[in-house]
Amino acid sequence: MALTHNLGFPRIGARRELKQALEAYWRADISDEKLNATAAELRQRHWTLQRDLGIDLIPAGDFALYDQMLNMTALLGAVPARFNAQQDEIGLELYFAMARGTATQPAMEMTKWFDTNYHYIVPEFDADTRFRVASPQLFKEVAEAQALGISPKAVLIGPLTYLYLGKESTPGFSRLDLLPQLLPVYRDILGQLASLGVEWVQIDEPLLALDLGEEWLRGLDQAYTALAEPRLTKLLLTTYFEAVDKHANRLKELPVDGLHIDLCRAPDQLETFLDHYPVGKVLSLGIVDGRNIWRSDLARSFSMLSRVQAILGERLWIAPSCSLQHCPVDLELETRLDGEIKNWLAFAVQKLHEVSALGRGVTHGESAISEILSASTEASRVRAQSERIHNPVVQERLRSLTRKENERASPFPVRQSRQRQRFKLPLLPTTTIGSFPQTAEIRQARAAFKKGELGNLQYLQAMRDEIALAIRKQEEIGLDVLVHGEAERNDMVEYFGEQLWGYVFTENGWVQSYGSRCVKPPILYGDIYRPEPMTVDWIQYAQSLTPRPVKGMLTGPVTMLMWSFVRDDQPRADTALQLALAIRDEVADLERAGIGIIQIDEPAFREGLPLKKPDWDEYLQWAVRAFRVASSSVRDDTQIHTHMCYSEFHDILPAIAEMDADVITIETSRSRMELLNAFGQFKYPNEIGPGVYDIHSPRIPRTEEILELLEKACKVIDPSQLWVNPDCGLKTRGWVETEAALQRMVEAARLLRTLNLPKISVN
Ligand code: GLN
Ligand code: ZN
Repeated sequence: MALTHNLGFPRIGARRELKQALEAYWRADISDEKLNATAAELRQRHWTLQRDLGIDLIPAGDFALYDQMLNMTALLGAVPARFNAQQDEIGLELYFAMARGTATQPAMEMTKWFDTNYHYIVPEFDADTRFRVASPQLFKEVAEAQALGISPKAVLIGPLTYLYLGKESTPGFSRLDLLPQLLPVYRDILGQLASLGVEWVQIDEPLLALDLGEEWLRGLDQAYTALAEPRLTKLLLTTYFEAVDKHANRLKELPVDGLHIDLCRAPDQLETFLDHYPVGKVLSLGIVDGRNIWRSDLARSFSMLSRVQAILGERLWIAPSCSLQHCPVDLELETRLDGEIKNWLAFAVQKLHEVSALGRGVTHGESAISEILSASTEASRVRAQSERIHNPVVQERLRSLTRKENERASPFPVRQSRQRQRFKLPLLPTTTIGSFPQTAEIRQARAAFKKGELGNLQYLQAMRDEIALAIRKQEEIGLDVLVHGEAERNDMVEYFGEQLWGYVFTENGWVQSYGSRCVKPPILYGDIYRPEPMTVDWIQYAQSLTPRPVKGMLTGPVTMLMWSFVRDDQPRADTALQLALAIRDEVADLERAGIGIIQIDEPAFREGLPLKKPDWDEYLQWAVRAFRVASSSVRDDTQIHTHMCYSEFHDILPAIAEMDADVITIETSRSRMELLNAFGQFKYPNEIGPGVYDIHSPRIPRTEEILELLEKACKVIDPSQLWVNPDCGLKTRGWVETEAALQRMVEAARLLRTLNLPKISVN
């Protein structure tokens, strides 16, 4: 017998029911009761579904109205003092106040959950933080499952991970110091779960996937020793997203009842764990990939599990690698997906089918699942050989790539002077990041066109009108380098994916990004090939309207990769290079069409960094190379820009410089001066446009503010290297504030040009 279990089910609902309910609740269209009822219905549906799929141990407590970390903050009563909470029990109002802010308090910070695209609410700690069991929600959910006749495994985020992922809001204090007073509250929670009859608690400690200081590891020993005696419930300590075998001995010795390890991300760690695995402990193997949408090769998994079962017997458990919240819900809802490709995929429901089948096979022998195994093997075989995946033209091109393709013809100083001769831009040139407000009319026109309600010609005209409007406004504002405004783009990855071979799109493949926000990542399944130009017509039209340079606007290879579900049958580095070649061809076509400035956006560049530092170099090498392949075909006097945002960049400046873009525009609203100092100290060699105002708010910055910022920037970076631009694209803004803010930005740049700046030759 091998027990099967699940670590977490997507809570948003196959048709995003939770999203709709949440947003209706926030608009005050539905009551608390209605929201809670929808949530309970979803939980119930997901539990019965998992039971019907034959999963033995089903999680409760994996649901959250907004976020799982915020649920822990509520459960542990760790409400930041600034919310001035009076109540004993944390209700919906306070819960959403922490998530979304109030009239007087900003929301708690949000950041990415490890290397996923899910964002969690960051706990805020100070020396006065106190913990207590402050929300009955988890216990209610356990009881709900029990009422269905399910005896669930309760899910908690472990104390170390909870503290580690939080942030100190006052200096001179370490959040790890809170551990001793946090542990009794965890004991209290375990006690309450035990009295509900819960046998197993899944306690997630994904922090173990990171590079940890010794103090956190000592904290781990301390915590689990404290939680062990007297035993309240059984504990399954869960790790995922990376290898944890560096800590194998420590983990084996912890007084817990079982461990879960991720064998999709880190298959090699199995042997280390099997070696002298303690008697009496469960080992749960995460064998079905929770981070991707590919069907498993079940025969391979099955033979591995059979071998392990011979060693562990009943102590072997079978599970997805991590919570399935990072997968879309159900492939069966995809009615328009190409049949051949559909057969290669598995969403959450299908992944649980796989887990369940593997469990049956291990328990009852191979013959019990022989049909499932052969279907899986057949699907793998067909996929591996499919012409849909393998494009010899692309593969040959990849093979024949040489160093030459990742080098510009001349070094930056030569290019810089040629570009200055060509464009004759003023000192501190002004520009924007690409998109202009996506008004309701633009979105309607695009949607109508997609549905076939708007004809080609009407659509073309509607988009051209938007481009003309954007160009006229930019000329009036007095910007130096213009953009076409991206009206024709729904999403910066989808727009290109739709035009490339090797991509498919789903109708309902939604994955929660944060709160009620979901994304529908495209699926990159095969060799990437660009059959024809993707942006040239639009940009060329924009350029025809103005004597000023219009910047071509492309999404870079790394961002295309990061924001898609990517194929698992070749290294990501190869896929990135294929994307790079497609973009390289687009760059060449733009240049041929007379476009002199081309921006290749890489907002997700930093996101790709592996969780463990020793792996950074390898990633940065191929990521930088992909960007260079995409951008290096051009003449010296063609100017390549890149843009980055959403992250900290201090620690990867050398790699950013290696990308060798002529200009980088970069978001700095998070830590304005720190980032500038970092660029200054590093002596960033090329040109740089630090964002001078935050586009995430409708607030219009004052000219003096911008001026002050630019003056500061001039002190750390040579003014001849500086550009003036907002933090990011403007598509979420309205035209009114956009025009006002850009006018002030241009005014600030002009004022500064007239001041006594160090003498720098600009041609
Ligand atoms: N060019 C894109 C835009 O302006 C860049 C978006 C981004 O950085 N995420 O919208
Ligand atoms: Zn951006």
